[in-house]
Amino acid sequence: MFPLAALVGFVCAIVFGVHLLIDRAINQAIKSHADMDAMTWARELHANLLASDGALSSGMLTEDQKAVIDAAIKYGNVYAFIVYDTKGRMVYSSDYGAPDLGTDRPVNETAQEVVTSGASNVQVLQRMSPAGDQSVFVDAFVPAKGQDGRVIGAVQVYLDKSEIATFYHSFLDWIGLLLPVVCAVIYVVPSVAFVMKREQAFSRGEDVRQLSRYDALTGALNRHTMSTEAKKRFADRGQDTQIGVFFLDIDKFKTVNDTHGHEFGDAYLKHIASILIASVRETDLVGRMGGDEFVVCFPDACLNLLERVGQKMMHAANQPFEYKGKTIQGSLSIGAHLADPDESGPEALHAADLALYHAKSTGRNKMQVYFKALDTALLRRCEVEARMRQAFDRNEFEVHFQPLSKPSDGSIIGFEALLRLNGTDGAPISPTEFIPIAEETGMIQALGMRTLRQAIETAKTWPEDIFLSVNLSPAQFQKGDLVSEIEALLNELNFPAGRLELEVTENLLMADEERVSAQLVGLKRMGISIAMDDFGTGYSSLGYLWKYDFDKLKIDRVFLEGFEFDNLRYREIIETIVTLGHKMGMQVTVEGVENEAQTEMLDEFACDQYQGFLIGKPMPAAQALETINAERPGETSAA
Ligand code: C2E
Ligand code: CA
Ligand code: CA
Repeated sequence: MFPLAALVGFVCAIVFGVHLLIDRAINQAIKSHADMDAMTWARELHANLLASDGALSSGMLTEDQKAVIDAAIKYGNVYAFIVYDTKGRMVYSSDYGAPDLGTDRPVNETAQEVVTSGASNVQVLQRMSPAGDQSVFVDAFVPAKGQDGRVIGAVQVYLDKSEIATFYHSFLDWIGLLLPVVCAVIYVVPSVAFVMKREQAFSRGEDVRQLSRYDALTGALNRHTMSTEAKKRFADRGQDTQIGVFFLDIDKFKTVNDTHGHEFGDAYLKHIASILIASVRETDLVGRMGGDEFVVCFPDACLNLLERVGQKMMHAANQPFEYKGKTIQGSLSIGAHLADPDESGPEALHAADLALYHAKSTGRNKMQVYFKALDTALLRRCEVEARMRQAFDRNEFEVHFQPLSKPSDGSIIGFEALLRLNGTDGAPISPTEFIPIAEETGMIQALGMRTLRQAIETAKTWPEDIFLSVNLSPAQFQKGDLVSEIEALLNELNFPAGRLELEVTENLLMADEERVSAQLVGLKRMGISIAMDDFGTGYSSLGYLWKYDFDKLKIDRVFLEGFEFDNLRYREIIETIVTLGHKMGMQVTVEGVENEAQTEMLDEFACDQYQGFLIGKPMPAAQALETINAERPGETSAA
């Protein structure tokens, strides 16, 4: 729009300007033309009429002189002429002849000036005839000079310059017409090209802007746009509006990517983004912050809305997703927060992030709404993680050993290795706190193998019939090389596989059945026995017991804790599990044996092993050795 208006304006200005210039040029041309004509005339008049016989002073003309004048008027476009003396007084007029020289004649000021200055004075007069033709006259005063070059008077000549003016006009008008056209062409071609280029650039710019607003893969807003848009919503919010924020993350996205490849991963990301976008209102913002992290901003929300939308998203994400013949059933974790009126965007997002973190570390596939205590929980987590890294580098994790006894005679038949860590203040940090962090950070791989090595090195100092039991995390099965690693370690330390027991929990079995099952079979083949730990707290699925052919079942201590309060009911449960284990060819260990009353009850069921504070608390390696020594003097050996 703008370039066209500019173009029209430009052309008009040129046309106007050119016409102005042409008029001036024509006037100028006519003037100098007339000036020359008038000079010639003056010279002619002077030569023929005035200088020879003093006609200028007498004003008397001969017949010959009059004939010259007539010829000049007839053929020379001279309309009329007047001769002035040195004072500017009229001496002779072609129209009126000579005035009465004796009278007091008026002085023509222009003629007087021309005489004084010696320079001519030319005026161009334009007149329009009633027929519309333009006539151009020139009224020229030129100095008349004597033979010695002195100015002896002035001659006023009226010249008809219409013809030459018409010629100039018709010529210059053409130029005047052509010039704007040429200018316009000169301007238009590059301007049109420029405008087109600009349009292209603009639309390309629009594309780029569009692209730079959205995440290319998922179509959600990109990180930058999301934060600027969210910032605006926070800045513009009204007194009574509450802004809601979701921080979302796809559960185990890395595993999806690793297992099914990046193409599948990308398709899955798109799928999740489309679920998010479809679940919100048009006024809500959905942005991808990078990787598998998304943020949703609800400019006008309440807790109820957040709950509803969150459930909707999670439900949709739980449906099977199929791509090129592969299917997965995924899940989402959501951290939600309803911002306080004085809370800034980044603060609100941080709160949602904390809530997400909590949702992920307490089981995933859930939505957690932010609450204040999460701040302290996160701070604590960071501290513990930092201490763990430090302790790992400094080799400050310790392995303690808890004895397991044979119920029939109370003798120690094995030890369970339990990891210990003290905080920088010396206070113990529970493994129930640091093991999940080790699992999340991936530290468990190295930490687990180091624990196993330390435990084996200790167990090697014990009598050969005392077994060692070590806990394994599901995360240790992830890489897939657990069997070969353990085999190499046993070989290196020359520790018989038959003395080693590995404890796994049910949540391992739920993870990736084939992968885990293959590794468990590999471990068993080596001669390692596998115990199912904490039985009764998880799914306690008989299916798992059948499928994995465990060597041992460890009944979780919650059953003995419950026994204190509901003697009969727990007694029955424990008896059933012991019988079941035995029927399936497994040994049964009861955990958490703390007092004689419990052993009295348990003795009836022919359990294979007891473990608990009554038999012994987890103790450092040296103390474990002392305990064995006390029971079986002289049977231990230095490693
Ligand atoms: P767990 O494998 O069930 O270990 C037994 C836990 O019960 C130990 O807690 C032990 O101190 C406690 N316990 C034993 N007898 C009694 C009793 O009579 N009464 C009571 N109240 N508690 C008893 P701990 O050492 O705090 O370990 C907690 C959990 O941490 C372990 O549970 C295990 O799942 C995990 N853990 C410990 N060390 C390791 C390790 O090296 N690797 C892995 N993956 N997990 C470990
Ligand atoms: Ca255990
Ligand atoms: Ca246990």
